[in-house]
Amino acid sequence: SLSDRLEITFKKLKGQGKLSEQNIKDALREVRIALLEADVNLNVTKAFIRRVQEKAIGVEVLKSLTPGQQVIKIVHDELVAVMGAANESLNLANQPPVVVMMAGLQGSGKTTSTAKLAKRLIDKERKKCLLASLDVYRPAAMKQLQTVGEQVGATVLPTEPTENPREIAKRALEEAKKGGFDVLFLDTAGRLHIDEALMSELADVAALVNPHEILFVADAMTGQDAVSVAKNFDDRLNITGVLLSKTDGDARGGAALSIREVTGKPIKFLGTGEKLDGLEPFHPDRVASRILGMGDVVSLVETAMEKVDLEETFKLQEKLANKKGFTLEDFLTQMQQVQKMGSISDLVGMIPGAKQAMKGKELDVDDKQIKRLEAIILSMTKKERQKHALINASRKRRIAAGSGTSVQEVNKLLKQFVQTQTMMKKLGGMGGLGKMMKGMK
Ligand code: GDP
Ligand code: MG
Repeated sequence: SLSDRLEITFKKLKGQGKLSEQNIKDALREVRIALLEADVNLNVTKAFIRRVQEKAIGVEVLKSLTPGQQVIKIVHDELVAVMGAANESLNLANQPPVVVMMAGLQGSGKTTSTAKLAKRLIDKERKKCLLASLDVYRPAAMKQLQTVGEQVGATVLPTEPTENPREIAKRALEEAKKGGFDVLFLDTAGRLHIDEALMSELADVAALVNPHEILFVADAMTGQDAVSVAKNFDDRLNITGVLLSKTDGDARGGAALSIREVTGKPIKFLGTGEKLDGLEPFHPDRVASRILGMGDVVSLVETAMEKVDLEETFKLQEKLANKKGFTLEDFLTQMQQVQKMGSISDLVGMIPGAKQAMKGKELDVDDKQIKRLEAIILSMTKKERQKHALINASRKRRIAAGSGTSVQEVNKLLKQFVQTQTMMKKLGGMGGLGKMMKGMK
């Protein structure tokens, strides 16, 4: 990860009190590569690097930090600053009905996201939502909104493909007023590319109903392309925010940074899955961490807190924070928790450095495999579990026989354990989950 690379770049600099122009330059070369790898737009990357450079020169290296960590901190803070300091949600502080217009290319996720947003407002804020499809070009799109809208408990305005989208918008607003709705969502049509006819249609609709929010929906998977499209929509419609969809397929976060930098408009939500609960408020600090390759520690903690025995997790993290060392017993506990939390690959994406550390086949541990790992670890003596270095060839043979597995499998488990141990050490060094969880308890 970038954090690792910067640590290496700065290893030789230990003991120097200030960040010099040359060592910042070296570090920023790594930052630049990381940003581009995260699919951040080239111009955006350049401008960003320039700003960090200005901020970093001459900065005192704090006693508690290495120069690498210090630069990471500056880069992290700048990323957060660019993306907006806090999460901004929908602006609902208006006379109802609040009108939210969804805009974006075809397939970007407008219809799905409309239902997701409505679901959120209905479930969390008891809002009465009316949805209307202005997509008269694809009859299936109207049907789609009806289906997902009904699934989340919203009212969907009946519309016909023969109607003019401008007329539908006006009618929808009247219905929303008459029906006492809190929020009206207008799900608009998209095209595969920016197209003048569509843009003027959308501009007309916006002029007619004067939406409080115009959310641009961008597909995170399209990376670079999303940037110019976003600029186009913003120039034409003066969008109020961005919903970045399909971030479950691209966890690098580069599109978020680029779109924010180019439009200056806040990213308000992330689409995180096909299902209608796959929506999260955008947290700039989390995406910044992701871009830096530090993993999404906060999300990890939240997932852990939701699904796992809190006490158990807490004890484990506490242990790591205290650096008493991560033993095979902890490894087993962790595996059992991971099993409860969902797929390992999901989780690994959220753990700092874990992707590289655990790259490859070892990752696809399914339930059956976890049972085998459990058998192996339970066949070890207590001493062996606490000090894996004790496990020599003859002990391996004994453990394999006892657990009904093979020496190769025992070896594989030990290798996995050592990799995880290394990773957990890093995690502990970052301040640790234990500390965070304490704050959240
Ligand atoms: P629209 O043409 O802009 O209305 O896009 P749709 O809402 O019809 O979505 C297009 C496709 O993207 C559908 O197959 C959705 O299920 C899918 N989709 C939308 N949002 C997400 C998301 O956040 N994650 C994933 N994995 N798929 C999504
Ligand atoms: Mg649609």
